[in-house]
Amino acid sequence: MEHPENDDKYKGLKVNKGVNDMPTVNPYLKKRTPRKRYTADEFVSGILDGNITILSQAVTLVESSLHEHQAIAQEIIEKCLPHAGKSIRVGITGVPGAGKSTSIDAFGMHLINAGHKLAVLAIDPSSERSKGSILGDKTRMESLSREKNAFIRPSPSAGSLGGVARKTRETIVLCEAAGFDTIFVETVGVGQSETAVHSMVDFFLLIQLAGTGDELQGIKRGIMEMADGIIINKADGDNIKKAELAASQFRNALHLFPPSESGWIPKVLTYSGYYGLGIKEIWDMVNDYIAFTKKNGYFNYKRNEQAKYWMYESINDSLRDKFYHNPEVEKMLEPTERQVLNNEISSFVAAKRMIDIFLENIH
Ligand code: GDP
Repeated sequence: MEHPENDDKYKGLKVNKGVNDMPTVNPYLKKRTPRKRYTADEFVSGILDGNITILSQAVTLVESSLHEHQAIAQEIIEKCLPHAGKSIRVGITGVPGAGKSTSIDAFGMHLINAGHKLAVLAIDPSSERSKGSILGDKTRMESLSREKNAFIRPSPSAGSLGGVARKTRETIVLCEAAGFDTIFVETVGVGQSETAVHSMVDFFLLIQLAGTGDELQGIKRGIMEMADGIIINKADGDNIKKAELAASQFRNALHLFPPSESGWIPKVLTYSGYYGLGIKEIWDMVNDYIAFTKKNGYFNYKRNEQAKYWMYESINDSLRDKFYHNPEVEKMLEPTERQVLNNEISSFVAAKRMIDIFLENIH
């Protein structure tokens, strides 16, 4: 190879000849055999058989943003749908440190010991794999992670909240088809992700703590309103009295809320995830709720509303995606934005122009 840097005029610069590559250090190293590529039907029959390896691979396809992965993922989901829907879906939220992972481990073991199969999923739009996903992490759920009847999956990696939530929603379908009869969806009680979780679960549990000063802990009113059950963790040792006090404060606060659409009156319970106290009572509450709403028709009504919600969410998502990835739109977006910033055209005219460009260029 010619190195112009070696010319005399570049004094002090010299490119040395490279060294040859070393032969492979490990003569026994086998070439990695590429992962077997299943067809959609093979995926589906593996999932229906309850094969966890195949289920995990299918979830990876659901989470992928590659078009070819999405195509096969959608086919798998469609074929799994008739086998889905039979689980009880529970959303679990609470601020970091409230004890979500400790509690999920305890609730999960309670269910597994009663013969259930549990999938733990998560929605955490802020997480990035590189930072280590904090929710749904196996290492945080020590006992559960050793159970063959538990499937734990961290949050899909960062993206728009809608995108992350949709992937979790689709993963629920696959888990149900694989025979998981209880699904937990975990999220951090700080942002908008609760609304997304609420739109895919039957029962919404809010974990709270006692004795941290302001008893309502800045939890947004909206999140409290969504909760079907508020559970106060760490009711153990010296903390029991404080937890009881917090419980009565929450009960009072709940009285001020309008009655819920389901007709269910949210309950407030205390427990200790760490010491396994009060766990059965929490699960009795969830079962009471399911029985109550199945009887008054709300259970099915809510599932239908959720199905409708996700249909429109998917339409919005895919329109947005098609719009912003349209080559003509991509070309014109910035110049149009500049015109708006220079006060040459109004925002509305700009938007209409962009939409027209999109509509003229849909293939
Ligand atoms: P997360 O961030 O919401 O998942 O909370 P963790 O489950 O990681 O719990 C945060 C801390 O609280 C950990 O140090 C736990 O050991 C502790 N913790 C969780 N549950 C309880 C409980 O029931 N009682 C007591 N005393 N500590 C708990």
